[in-house]
Amino acid sequence: MSSPVSSRPASLAAAQPVRQGLVSARLLTVIALALLAAVWSFLPDFTVVVLCYIGLYSMVALGLVMLTGVGGMTSFGQAAFVGVGAYATAWVCTSPLAASALGGLLGTQALPWLGLLLGFVITFAVAWVLGSVTVKLQGHYLPLCTIAWGLSLYYLFGNMEFLGGQTGLTGIPAIKIAGLDLSSSRTIGVVIWAVMLQAMWLLHNLLDSREGRAIRSLKGGQIMAESMGVNTARYRIKLFVLAALLATLSGWLYAHMQRFVSPAPFNLNIGIEYLFMAVVGGAGHLWGAVLGAAIITLLKEKLQDILPALLGSNGNFETIVFGLLMVLVLQRFAEGLWPTLQRLTAGLIHRPENKLRAEPRPLDRRVLPAAGTVLLQAEHVIKRFGGLVANNNVSMSLKAGEVHALIGPNGAGKSTFFNMISGVDSPTEGEVQLMGQVMGDAPSRRFAALGLGRTFQHVRLLGQRSVLENVALGAHRRAHKGWIASMLRLDRHEEAALLAEARKQIERCGLGAYADLPAASLALGQQRIVEIARALAGQPAALLLDEPAAGLRHLEKQALADLLRQLRAEGLGILVVEHDMEFVMNLADRITVLEFGCVIATGKPAEIQVNQRVLDAYLGGGDDEEAAA
Ligand code: ADP
Ligand code: MG
Repeated sequence: MSSPVSSRPASLAAAQPVRQGLVSARLLTVIALALLAAVWSFLPDFTVVVLCYIGLYSMVALGLVMLTGVGGMTSFGQAAFVGVGAYATAWVCTSPLAASALGGLLGTQALPWLGLLLGFVITFAVAWVLGSVTVKLQGHYLPLCTIAWGLSLYYLFGNMEFLGGQTGLTGIPAIKIAGLDLSSSRTIGVVIWAVMLQAMWLLHNLLDSREGRAIRSLKGGQIMAESMGVNTARYRIKLFVLAALLATLSGWLYAHMQRFVSPAPFNLNIGIEYLFMAVVGGAGHLWGAVLGAAIITLLKEKLQDILPALLGSNGNFETIVFGLLMVLVLQRFAEGLWPTLQRLTAGLIHRPENKLRAEPRPLDRRVLPAAGTVLLQAEHVIKRFGGLVANNNVSMSLKAGEVHALIGPNGAGKSTFFNMISGVDSPTEGEVQLMGQVMGDAPSRRFAALGLGRTFQHVRLLGQRSVLENVALGAHRRAHKGWIASMLRLDRHEEAALLAEARKQIERCGLGAYADLPAASLALGQQRIVEIARALAGQPAALLLDEPAAGLRHLEKQALADLLRQLRAEGLGILVVEHDMEFVMNLADRITVLEFGCVIATGKPAEIQVNQRVLDAYLGGGDDEEAAA
């Protein structure tokens, strides 16, 4: 058993305080909800209405937590999706056409449910199309597109004759469940909160799964996520649709609570307010959505009461003060209020780790090719950046059971070549074959699927997540349960296997003591080892390591070399870019030397060490101190 990391840095002691609160977070939640249920029928009507709104807003904000806080995408257009939910059911329930066609067939009681279905169908289609066209563009396009969508839908609601124009639609019936008429806020409020909490539970489960890790990986950048086998475009679209469906559900409940709809509540302003709720509450946390919804609802309520009394009622002062308060909160609590609340109550409330007791189900296994098989073959690869030729006619191969080192002075084109053979970028000319298949423009996830694992020169981990979760992401491709299964906790056996595999790889790399710490709390050299463990969790046949020894101490480098030797003995082919010549010469079976994008030498370490062109390149190049030394 090798152990690249032998000693614990002192700073880690502080990163892992033993927290023993008085009460567990789960118990506290149950108590709070039980209290709410107990006093529900005694609360004043007005309070109940406010709580209904908080529940409805929370649902929309939950979608935004997933989309923005977890997935890193911004939408200003959620109010429009709420509008789709509200108008779809309003139209189905009130239009004589729909009522005569459908009501006669299924009974009028079915109309609200048909309205919900229609809302979901429209939202699904619109969100999918909107997501698909914007997701590939990335950056600001999605937010801009949601603004355009939010604006246009708002005006559409107001201008459609059959949707009642600016006056809207009235006479929407109450929902009936099992003969019970949900016509008062007190009765529909129970449903609103039950639905909202149920949604929260499903989302919580989703985040705590293989699919949740894939969603979080979107924030780690497309290159990293795709290298783990995650189809990032698809996940983005699905996440966008999920958030939109939650907004639609909220709109449906809203319409049947209000019993009428008009365009105003689906304005772009309200879309911005929803985003505020998620961000102020704490966009990375599901409970942050509820906190944000509560704070903003109550704040607006109070401002509307207090400000006219203070400043007179002939200005829109509440909007101005509201805006200023938002700026203040965001400036002071950048991550939102929920994390702050968590920190403040850390001594009182403890959050026990979720224990997973399911029996692991075996993960997919790859049959590794026999030693000597060519895994990766690059032929005459040319890569031009404008006039610069970063890779000039580079050919090389990687075989199972060997360590092949790629060396060369800074700027020689090593990282560019790494991108060519891992699907990050494609060659201008020439060809890359992996496992005998011509790769062309195939994306990184295709390389991962064929058995390529890699690390990055600039570490790409999710710093706030544990080492265990980061490494488990590496095994993403080896399991199959999807979003719905994860939401319903039908993935527990598979999840147990993924976490067990991750822990095994972490221990194998000597980081067992760090598994449950946030990845960012480790030293940089250790984070590189975490990346190796993550690559190994995918059970690769070929492993590409970009400067794995950088930042490691002498003993740690030796342990890393031991680990790589062990992997080689197991039949992996390892391609390593490394500056540390002692490390390379002691480990590599073959070495390829690049200079100005060209291969200037290839051979065994002993041959390379005496090769005059190599010596000239290094001594002449001069910018690689360690090699020159
Ligand atoms: P190495 O990893 O060996 O230090 P790189 O592959 O990073 O070298 O870079 C090789 C050359 O290609 C450098 O001159 C670099 O400036 C250039 N280069 C790398 N990536 C790009 C890019 N995306 N656009 C333009 N030039 C690039
Ligand atoms: Mg480089």
